[in-house]
Amino acid sequence: MASKLRFKVVGDAFEKRPVEVEVPSERPSDYFGKYVFNKRQMYQYLPAKVFDKMCDVMEHGAPLDRSIADEVAEGMKKWAIDLGVTHYTHWFQPLTEGTAEKHDGFVEHDMKGGMIEAFEGKLLVQQESDGSSFPNGGIRSTFEARGYTAWDPTSPVFVIGDTLMIPTVFFSYTGEALDYKAPLKKALFAIDCAATAVAQLFYPDVKKVRTNLGWEQEYFLVDESLYWARPDLVMTGRTLMGHDSAKNQQMDDHYLGAIPERVEAFMRDIEIRALELGIPCKTRHNEVAPNQFELAPIFEECNLAVDHNMLMMSIMKRVARKHGFRCLLHEKPFKGINGSGKHNNWSLTTDTGILLHAPGKSTNDNLRFVTFIVETLKGVYDHNGLLKASIMSASNAHRLGANEAPPAIISSFLGHTVSELLNHVAEYGNDEFLTYAGKTPMRLDIPSIPEILIDNTDRNRTSPFAFTGNRFEFRALGSEANCASAMLALNTAVADALTSFRQRVDELMEKGEAKEAAIIKVLCDDIRYIQPIHFDGNGYSDEWREEAARRGLDCETSCPVIYDNYLNESTVSMFERQKVMTRFELEARNEIKWETYTKRVQIEARIFGDLCMNHVIPVSTKYQSALIDNVHKLREIFPAEKAEKISADNLRIIEQISDHNSFIIENVERMVEARKVANRIECVRDRAVAYHDTVAPFLEQIRVHVDKLEQIVDDEQWPLPKYRELLFIH
Ligand code: ADP
Ligand code: MG
Repeated sequence: MASKLRFKVVGDAFEKRPVEVEVPSERPSDYFGKYVFNKRQMYQYLPAKVFDKMCDVMEHGAPLDRSIADEVAEGMKKWAIDLGVTHYTHWFQPLTEGTAEKHDGFVEHDMKGGMIEAFEGKLLVQQESDGSSFPNGGIRSTFEARGYTAWDPTSPVFVIGDTLMIPTVFFSYTGEALDYKAPLKKALFAIDCAATAVAQLFYPDVKKVRTNLGWEQEYFLVDESLYWARPDLVMTGRTLMGHDSAKNQQMDDHYLGAIPERVEAFMRDIEIRALELGIPCKTRHNEVAPNQFELAPIFEECNLAVDHNMLMMSIMKRVARKHGFRCLLHEKPFKGINGSGKHNNWSLTTDTGILLHAPGKSTNDNLRFVTFIVETLKGVYDHNGLLKASIMSASNAHRLGANEAPPAIISSFLGHTVSELLNHVAEYGNDEFLTYAGKTPMRLDIPSIPEILIDNTDRNRTSPFAFTGNRFEFRALGSEANCASAMLALNTAVADALTSFRQRVDELMEKGEAKEAAIIKVLCDDIRYIQPIHFDGNGYSDEWREEAARRGLDCETSCPVIYDNYLNESTVSMFERQKVMTRFELEARNEIKWETYTKRVQIEARIFGDLCMNHVIPVSTKYQSALIDNVHKLREIFPAEKAEKISADNLRIIEQISDHNSFIIENVERMVEARKVANRIECVRDRAVAYHDTVAPFLEQIRVHVDKLEQIVDDEQWPLPKYRELLFIH
């Protein structure tokens, strides 16, 4: 039965054709933002005064006056009803890595026996929900369960299907954040204040600094029918067993290769849906591993970009099913080939210019550039352990350090030119002798090819935090993560470095130092101070691991132990100083992180144990019985000596199967026992550490034997789709 099912699904997957995509008749520039209550819609649906106020809130971060909420809600309702909308929901990002929503209809009694569509300001501004059923790390116990969602007017509302979606922050009755967005917004405010104060040293007119985020989302697609035949994928998002496919990514033929037709239809579909929702999708391509792809929009303001990434991930999952795919966002769905990350391109701009942009000719511009580079690195250096914790998860841990992604050590690449500039400032205390080359021309000696411009830095794909000309690329994030986790840590850390920079410059100036001299003095100290985090070499090499340890960088690799960084004194005081999170909130969040880690490994261990005992062992035993039967029959029909000779191979295989089977059975039992012991540990941290140290290793050890059996047992009987089937079907 099992084998029939497998042949049926594999066959199905081969026969599939691209799904017809609903393509709008207008151009992308026309349908962009069609389902978003953006400025254009606001202008049409809101009274002039309310429109001006909303612009001030959205563009300048002005406080929102509750009194205009009724008028905004009325305008939103009219716009939404014109689109056929009947429901609304507060849309928030609890600490589950996903989003949450509870829909309510617009309908209300009209008190005359009929119904009307109603939506008031108070429903837009806040809602109450049950805080205790979301991860809360003990902040809410079930008997005092109130949680609130509050409208975030800086991320515009949008429509999906028949529902008006309202981006909100989520917090408890006592004011603690229960989501990612509230602390992210606080971190963005902190860096705005700190960076504005520093930018004003160079450009007195600057009033605001904006953080930009451009994410690049990697993902895998697998055929949906094959997905359903893999209980491990369904339950955990990754395959817990499966021998390498003979061909996988060794030919480098998938990266930027021609996009398969079925996948291209899927990409077109998600891009259209995303553009309609105001997500500025721009780039799509094949990634390194077979069946792996990437999507990247144009960068946006950080808070909006985070919302758009969350929305994009849900669009991808939903639309994939329409195309007969499952979209895998797990960081490591398949062993032995690349996993998926989510590079976060991060930069700062003022209301008048760009802060990380290659410097110009004036000393002022050069000093501004050096200041922001150096203080960014200072934030990253002082909190390198925290930044690693901010991207760490049970699933991303499989990806980091496996020669496909940066190692589990945070360092920063600056490139030759910028490194030279910093050395020069540190050595001479000025930038006078340096002209910073922008792009330089290069001729290819092929007459028909025009001259091209070469960047002043090469790429370094082994660095977790690389400077790329006008931004840093934080490359260590996992594909499944909410970017807010890393962005709130990075922005707070840099805000703290910038705050201290401005304070130290001010102190020197108060003592009579001229502004420029004071800036250079502080910079010289900081350039020397940040040396350990600056590394332009090969981050994948073993020497780097040793060198990083000598430099005192955080080299811990155990996920639950890495989370300890959140509760370091220096981390807690930084978050409290920058008013982003309190010790209590950080403690609660860590409880959730440890708990989540434990649950994920627990689920993996359970499903893996089941698969071993209910799928693998019965099938390998059955195959072994057939071989034994064959040996007996050979003995019946051949003389003893000949029978012995020709059944020798089968006897060897029979023995191998026995060895693998007994290893698997014995170790599944030991794994169950290790789980029981770990489950009895009270302290959530210690329980997570026990799962990491004593349960997770069984998954790898047992898998080796299962994967060997996969190669021995008759293909027709093997119950699970293999890597070569999962990875090559479009
Ligand atoms: P790569 O070649 O590194 O894979 P991609 O083209 O896939 O680059 O993605 C680059 C991302 O960086 C895009 O989201 C792009 O909008 C973003 N980006 C470009 N410039 C900036 C900037 N100044 N600040 C933040 N993000 C930026
Ligand atoms: Mg890219």
